[in-house]
Amino acid sequence: MTDNALDRLTLAERAALTSGESLWRTQAIERAGIPSITLSDGPHGVRRQPDDGDHLGVGHSTPATCFPPAVALGSSWDSDLVRRVGEALGRESRAMDVQVLLGPGVNIKRSPLCGRNFEYFSEDPRLSGVLGAALVLGIQSQGVGAAVKHFAANNQETDRMRISAEVDERTLREIYLPAFQHVVTVAKPWMVMSAYNRVNGVYASEHPWLLTEVLRDEWGFRGVVVSDWGAVDDRVAALWAGLDLEMPTSGRASDASVVKAVEAGALDQELLDASAARVLALVARAQPGEGTFDAGAHHRLAREVAGQCAVLLKNDGVLPLGFQDSVAVVGELARTPRYQGAGSSHIVPTRLDDVLTEMRALAGRELEYAPGYRLGDASRSPELEEEARAVAARATTTVVCLGLPAEDEGEGYDRTHLELPDNQRALLDVVAATGTRVVVVLSNGGVVRVADWDGAASAVLEGWLLGQAGGGAIADILYGEVNPSGRLAETIPLRLEDTASYLDFPGELGTVRYTEGVFVGYRYHDALDAPVSYPFGHGLSYTEFGYSDLDVHTRGSGEELVVRVSVRITNLGDRAGQEVAQVYVAAPSHDVRRPARELRAFRKVALEPGVSTTVRFYLAFRDFAYFHPVRRRWTIDPGTATIHVGASSRDLRVAATVVMEGSKQPVPAAITPDSSLADWLAAPGGLDVLQREMRPPAETGQSHSRFLTEPALRMAGSVPVRRLARFPGAYLDPERLDKLADEVNERAGW
Ligand code: BGC
Repeated sequence: MTDNALDRLTLAERAALTSGESLWRTQAIERAGIPSITLSDGPHGVRRQPDDGDHLGVGHSTPATCFPPAVALGSSWDSDLVRRVGEALGRESRAMDVQVLLGPGVNIKRSPLCGRNFEYFSEDPRLSGVLGAALVLGIQSQGVGAAVKHFAANNQETDRMRISAEVDERTLREIYLPAFQHVVTVAKPWMVMSAYNRVNGVYASEHPWLLTEVLRDEWGFRGVVVSDWGAVDDRVAALWAGLDLEMPTSGRASDASVVKAVEAGALDQELLDASAARVLALVARAQPGEGTFDAGAHHRLAREVAGQCAVLLKNDGVLPLGFQDSVAVVGELARTPRYQGAGSSHIVPTRLDDVLTEMRALAGRELEYAPGYRLGDASRSPELEEEARAVAARATTTVVCLGLPAEDEGEGYDRTHLELPDNQRALLDVVAATGTRVVVVLSNGGVVRVADWDGAASAVLEGWLLGQAGGGAIADILYGEVNPSGRLAETIPLRLEDTASYLDFPGELGTVRYTEGVFVGYRYHDALDAPVSYPFGHGLSYTEFGYSDLDVHTRGSGEELVVRVSVRITNLGDRAGQEVAQVYVAAPSHDVRRPARELRAFRKVALEPGVSTTVRFYLAFRDFAYFHPVRRRWTIDPGTATIHVGASSRDLRVAATVVMEGSKQPVPAAITPDSSLADWLAAPGGLDVLQREMRPPAETGQSHSRFLTEPALRMAGSVPVRRLARFPGAYLDPERLDKLADEVNERAGW
């Protein structure tokens, strides 16, 4: 149908199709019966706005369920759960006549300072990719498209519309692209959204390598590439690179520039037609709005999900609380929740729960409360602190709600530090000094530093931003109605200075260099074996789990390698709970430095007390491979790989080894006189030829040159043979080198 539809369009209409009609709508071509469709943010709720809205989260939007943002979903480590959120998002989109929801964001948390980390899942590509794919599958199961974003290397907000992320190919391939690849290949999103920033000097929206070579040719993406809002700098260059749809509208002027470029032969019409055809196909598969959604049921789902996302960092046994315990609640955030981040993802919720009301509801009685500090003003208030001190002094346990004020993090700007506001830190000391047992509940989209105060707390619950029902979910966990099962999707470092990108974030003079390479998050801390506050993957439960019976079975080799890993997990405690079994691989490497170990698989399992289950994982070639920067392909080096299964990146419980054969090496390059001595010797027959040629005169009594004996050989290995021939004692005729190289190459089959 779309081919025919395209045939009926004029050149100007084809150009018009590849740009938006308004802020949220694609271009309709009424004459040809082509309707426009609506795209809306995204990603953790539907932000349905009138056409004259804004993409900065400032203006009004229709109320929708605010599910936990990605920072929280990432900590669930539960793809079934995330898929259910996606299904609910799809239902709400249908009900609000939205055809494509703009999410998920699967950018990697390169630095804890990124102002938009609340919208991303993790510092790890595998976790981000698996959860991102689950969200897309859920959304699209309802006949609504998803747009995975922001492709690629959009890892900061500072200067986001111009900054050039300077990243080497291996780092892109191993860290910043795999989550996109996983989503594209497994979930087949209708759209991919290109990022604002440049990648190695070229705008992501005009990047032929990213948008065409990698995304379409290598990964087989068949959908529409849409620009981030206002990301297109040069429309013709963008179309040429593989960007199909510029959003929002840039007015008809840029359409005219496209027509002119085609007419002048500066843009191949086939490229424009291919993009227009892809937009037509998108419009054709889009479904009209339909039905309503059950706001009550979605609110309950939001609470259930939030309960699986919060991470219990520390607990000396004070949690769970009993309904009859003497408990006070302190902190403005207990009654004024922070539950989502600022910017384009901002949702007007259908309802909003707070911790204080929900704790009182569960306990079935009043709990004493004091706000303790003001939000949005870091100065201390002696009156509020005194009131909080008095309340805490009367309670055996005090729940202290702390976190980042809304203005501390948001789209469009990065954070500059990891600290809680001064007045909150001071309040914590005031409360702890009363002798009450302190339970800290955190609300923050980006990591906050805990190292200088968590010693004063009996328990710390990291709630991240939990969506509109987070208040109830926190109450459920505090009172033991829900057994916490969230695990950290990002490391909590001791200090900002300990993070990998500290010296190169957010860049300078228009450029940010990813000098840490693949050593991002735990890959960095683990390579240094450096202490952290709480490691990647960490999270406590009210029960305990045991790991045993690890079994590893290998089939095939090279690119056909499959490794089956099975492990037995047992709930050793007396409460039902959920464990996240995490598989890390430490693989051999010869040519490059690799992380100590990398997350390759995970599974969340629910177990009744005393019950065991066997979990199976299948690892493949890519789980052991690295991207060879010179050969420019995925490679396994021969040696022994270790497979660890455990409860965090630092709590590895069982391990087994697998012997790797190594990838087939490409045929070695032909030898020339400028090849090194080591290269000559590595070539079949190279040693024979050189031993024959490098012959000292008989009176020396040597059979061949000393350069061919240890230890000289070790030191001279890197010397180009043409230069070696000039040294006294080499006994090698420079005039014969070309002939000798031919001889060696012939023997090697060249
Ligand atoms: C954001 C995108 C968002 C778009 C539309 C941009 O500012 O980066 O994530 O989807 O606006 O609101």
